Amino acid sequence: MAINPRFLDELRNRLTLSEIIGRRIKVTRMGRESKACCPFHSEKTPSFTINDDKQFYHCFGCGAHGDIIGFVMQHDNVSFIDSIEMLAAEAGMEVPKQTPQEVEKSKKEKDLHALLEEATLFFEAHLHDQRNGDALGYLLDRGLTKETLAEFRVGFAPDDAQALRKFLLAKDYSDKDMITAGVLRKSTRGGEPYAFFRDRIMFPVPDRRGRIVAFGGRILPDHMRPPQRGDFIPPKYINSSETPLFNKGSMLYGEPIARRAAADGQAIILVEGYMDVIACAQSGFRGALAPMGTAVTQEQILSMWKMIPDFTKIPILCFDGDGAGRKAAWRAVDRILPLLEAGRSVDFAFMPDGEDPDSLIKSSGAKGFQNILGGSLSLFDFIWNYYTAGRGFKTPELRAGVIKQLENEVARVANSDVQVHYKSLLRHKISETFFKRRSFKGNKYSKAIGVKPPRPRSYQSRAAHLFPRVLLASIINHPNIFGFVEDELCNLTIKEPRFDKLRQNIIDILSDDHAKNSDILLNQLENLGFAQEIGDICNESVYVHASFCSPSASCEDVQSNWLEYYNDGNAAGLGDEMQNGWRSVSCDEDVSRLRDLLYTKSRDGETL
Ligand SMILES: [Zn+2]
Repeated sequence: MAINPRFLDELRNRLTLSEIIGRRIKVTRMGRESKACCPFHSEKTPSFTINDDKQFYHCFGCGAHGDIIGFVMQHDNVSFIDSIEMLAAEAGMEVPKQTPQEVEKSKKEKDLHALLEEATLFFEAHLHDQRNGDALGYLLDRGLTKETLAEFRVGFAPDDAQALRKFLLAKDYSDKDMITAGVLRKSTRGGEPYAFFRDRIMFPVPDRRGRIVAFGGRILPDHMRPPQRGDFIPPKYINSSETPLFNKGSMLYGEPIARRAAADGQAIILVEGYMDVIACAQSGFRGALAPMGTAVTQEQILSMWKMIPDFTKIPILCFDGDGAGRKAAWRAVDRILPLLEAGRSVDFAFMPDGEDPDSLIKSSGAKGFQNILGGSLSLFDFIWNYYTAGRGFKTPELRAGVIKQLENEVARVANSDVQVHYKSLLRHKISETFFKRRSFKGNKYSKAIGVKPPRPRSYQSRAAHLFPRVLLASIINHPNIFGFVEDELCNLTIKEPRFDKLRQNIIDILSDDHAKNSDILLNQLENLGFAQEIGDICNESVYVHASFCSPSASCEDVQSNWLEYYNDGNAAGLGDEMQNGWRSVSCDEDVSRLRDLLYTKSRDGETL
C-alpha cells in the first residue's frame, strides 16, 4: 500500500510528538524541549530529548533518532504501515484508501472494532460490579493483581443472555453487527439472538495494534457456577468464532505486549493459554504469547520470528511434560522444519509433570519458571531425543533404523543452507553416540594405591541394587562434582538398562556443560523421559543409605564420599563369593556390611 506523502505530513502536523511518546514512556517537559529516559537503551538519567517544533527525537546516549512514525515503529515493534494506521487512529484520521471496496471494507471493520471495544468496556465493568465479586475474588485468589487485570482488560460476561445485547442496542449497534463480531448468536428456535459468552471470565484478544478483535471466555470453577441445566457440561474455554477481524490461526494472544517486550530484548515464549500469558507477564516474562485453542500454526511461527528484532530469532515453545505435551511439541516440529532459515529456529521447554506456566509460577515463582526455560532443548536436540531416548541400539539394524528416521527428518528442512548444517550435526552426533567408545583411563583410586583399575561390574544383589542409585542420585543432586568423577561414571556398568540409559544421558548432558545446576539437569532428564527413574532414585529411601547423595549434602562431602563409595563397591564386586554373600544381606546394612567385607579382604592380604 502506497501512502500519500501529503497525508504523512498532515499526520505529523496533527500529532504532538511529545504527547505520543508520553503515552508510552514518562516524559518531562523542559522549556521548548522534553526529556525522558531513553526507551531504547538502559539509563537512569534522561538523555532522550524530544523537540516538538522540529518533530524529531534524539538520544545523546545511544544515538536513537527519528520522527513520530519511526518512534512508534521502533518502540511498539510494528511495521511502517501499522504505525501509520495506529497514529492515524490516534489523530482521528483515515488512512487514504485506494478503491471504493477498500473504503467500504475499512468502514465495516472500523464499526466492528468500535463494537468490540464497547463490549470490552461492558465486560470490564461487570468484573468490577459487586454482584460478580466472586469472579473478581477468584482471579485475585489466583494471584493476579488489579493492575494486571486492567492491563489485559480482563472482564466478566454476566449470565443474563440479553444484557450485552441491550447495552449495545442502546448504543445503536445492530444485531447483525453483533453476530458478525461474534458476541451474539442467532437463536435456532426462532427466539431473540443471545449472548455467546455467559457467566464467564472474559479475556479480550487484541490484534498487534492493540485493537480488540475477539474474546476468550473461561467458566468459573464448579462451586461458583449456577446449577447445571440438564446434563449439559459447558466447555472450560470458548473462543470467538472466525470473524472478518479475527483469524484464529494467524493471531496470538498477548501480541502487543510481547512485541514491545521483544523490542526490549526479552524472550518470546509460547505458552498454552490466556492465564499462562497473563501470569508470565505479571512475573516479568512479558514476551509470553498463546495460540487460541489450536496447535501452533506456521503463520504463528512466522509471526513470532517477525516480532524478534535480532538476527537470531529463537522463541521458546513451552509444552506440558507429559505424553500429550510431547506429541504437541512434535506437531510443532512438523510445521517448523520446512520454515527454518539461517538464524531462525525454536527451543522447546517442558513443564514439570502436572504443571503449566501459570501454576509453576504460582508454586515456584519466576525463578522456577526461569529454570525451566534455562533447561530448554534446541530443535535439533529435541528431534534427536524424540527418536533415541529410552531406546537401545545394540544391533546394526536398530542403528540403521534410527539413523534413517533422523535423516528423513533432516531432509524436511527446506532451506538448503540450514539443511547442510543439520546433516553435519547429525553425522557428528551419530558417530559420537554409536561409534566412539569412551576410552578407559585409570581412575584416581588406582593411581593412588597403585593397583589395577577395577573392572566394571554388574550388580545383582540388594546392595548392587542400591549402588548405582546412590552414585546417580549424588550426580543428579550435585552435578558440579561431575568433573571429578567423569571417568568412573563412564566406566560404571549398570545392569538395569533404564538406569544405564539414564547414566549415559547424564554423561552426555554434563559433558557439554559441566556447570549445569541440579534443577536444570533434572528438568532436562525429565524431558528425556526419565521422570520415573529420577523418582526411583532421588528419594529418602536412597538417601537414608548414604547421606552424601542427598540434595542437602555439602559439596566437599559429596566429592570425598562418591569416589570412596564407588571404589569400595567396585572392588567388592570383584569377588564372586562376596557377591553371593550379598544377596542375603538386608538393604539397611548394605553400606556398613560392604565396608566390613572389604576390610576383611584387605586384612587377609588379598589384592583388591
Ligand atoms: Zn538511547
